[in-house]
Amino acid sequence: MITNVIIVFAMALISCKGNQNEDRKVYSVKVPEPVIEVPVSYIMGQFDPTTHKDFTIIPRQYADRDSMYMRKDAFNDFVRMYEVAFKDSINLVIRSAARNFDYQKGIWERKWNGTTILSDGVNAATDIQDPKERALKILEYSSMPSTSRHHWGTDIDLNSFNNGWFEEGEGLKLYNWMLGHAHEYGYCQPYTEKGSERPEGYNEEKWHWSYTPVSKPLLQLAAKELKNEMIKGFLGHEQATTIDVVSKYVLGINHQCK
Ligand SMILES: [Zn+2]
Repeated sequence: MITNVIIVFAMALISCKGNQNEDRKVYSVKVPEPVIEVPVSYIMGQFDPTTHKDFTIIPRQYADRDSMYMRKDAFNDFVRMYEVAFKDSINLVIRSAARNFDYQKGIWERKWNGTTILSDGVNAATDIQDPKERALKILEYSSMPSTSRHHWGTDIDLNSFNNGWFEEGEGLKLYNWMLGHAHEYGYCQPYTEKGSERPEGYNEEKWHWSYTPVSKPLLQLAAKELKNEMIKGFLGHEQATTIDVVSKYVLGINHQCK
C-alpha cells in the first residue's frame, strides 16, 4: 500500500512595493510552493536521486566533489545561506547530500563486514560478535538503510566529518555562524549533543544539517508509517526491530528540528 504525505507550505509572502497613492505599482508575490506527495518508499530511499524530478545536481562550487544531488527546494535555500555566509567569510562546503537505499546499504554493509574500519579504529566484524552490539556500534554514526535522513534529499553534511574541527578556529567560526543563522534559511542540526534533551539516537554530528520545511513533514510521515519490520534487505537488518531503530534513531533528534 502506498501512503502519501502532503506537504503544504503555508507561508505565502506578499510584499508591496508601492504606497497607497500609486495604484499601478508592481507587487512582488511569492506564491506558495506546490503540494508535494511522496510514498513511504521515498523516505526509505527507494528511488534514484539522479533522475527524480524534485532533485538537482549540486554544482561543484558548493561541494567538494561532483555528482552529488539534493532536493531543489533545499538547494535553493542552501544557496541563499551560502551567499550570505560567504560575505561573512564563511565557506560552506557540502561533503555529502542525498544517498539512496543502495548507497546507504553499501556504507552499512562495509562497516558490518569489516571492510570499513570505524572512526575509532574498531573492526565491527571481528571485534564485536554479538549482532545487536555490532549494530549499536555502527549506529553511533551511520544509519541503517531505509532510515537515513540522507534518503530524503533534505539533509547535508558540511565541511568536516570530525566534531573537533568545528570546535576551534575556522570550524568553530563556521559552526557558530550556522547556530546563529541556519534557521533563517530553514536549516537545523538534528544530531545535537546527547543528554537530557536528546537521550537517544546517533552521536552528535556538528556537520549534519537538515532543511526542515520539508524534513519536518517527512519525519511526521516516518513517525506514522515507518515500522521496524519494514527495514530489511541488508546484513544485520534483524536488529532494527530488536533495537527499535525507528523510535530511538529516526525519531531521536533535536526537538527543534521536529
Ligand atoms: Zn549526515
